[in-house]
Amino acid sequence: MRLDKLLANMGYGTRKEVKQLLKQKGVTVDGEVVKDSSMHVNPDIQEVSVFGERVEYMEFIYLMMNKPPGVISATEDHVDKTVIDLLDPLAQHFKPFPVGRLDKDTEGLLLITNDGQLAHNLLSPKKHVPKTYYAKIDGEVTESDIEAFRQGVELDDGYVTKPGDLVILSSGPKSEIELTIQEGKFHQVKRMFESVGKKVTYLKRLSMGSLKLDEELNLGDYRELTEEELDNFK
Ligand code: URA
Repeated sequence: MRLDKLLANMGYGTRKEVKQLLKQKGVTVDGEVVKDSSMHVNPDIQEVSVFGERVEYMEFIYLMMNKPPGVISATEDHVDKTVIDLLDPLAQHFKPFPVGRLDKDTEGLLLITNDGQLAHNLLSPKKHVPKTYYAKIDGEVTESDIEAFRQGVELDDGYVTKPGDLVILSSGPKSEIELTIQEGKFHQVKRMFESVGKKVTYLKRLSMGSLKLDEELNLGDYRELTEEELDNFK
């Protein structure tokens, strides 16, 4: 990879700004000052430093966000803010995208990455990656709903869902539940409750496969996945 590309990717400025760094003798490769921005380097085996500080090259970025309501799970939107707009410029540099969608009003766990292969695997219907949601429901959720979701319910477009695991946390005119599903149809949780005559009034994703929302993250905050989270997840 070209040295200027590597440094630009790692947030050291535009290629033009990187050229200035090189001119100022600020960049070394394996301890030697380099001035040629087109030099090819292998970041896995060569040590690149900027003003004495080693550059840890990363190709991929993996972020966990606690998505706030009111933002769109997309890379661009002409009207609303997107989850990508909430990232700092360095993270945006990696050109990440959200893995799957949460509705505008849904909160909680959202994985944001530029690793297309990982995203593809997670979203593949064949992989059956379970996703768990917490929801508040208008209406009394009952044992018969648990059974209906276990059997699969018919959505408004005729699609019959795969078995879902519904746990009632509290039941009354307003109920609280956790639901685990292995699919990601459009508005799936809301539509599953509609099919049993109930309305989701609040929805938050808690987990996706082994990855659990870090409850320390405030709405709109994000952090990189730990190595352990990533290893378990891949
Ligand atoms: N199901 C929904 O209805 N909405 C979401 O955002 C996610 C799952």
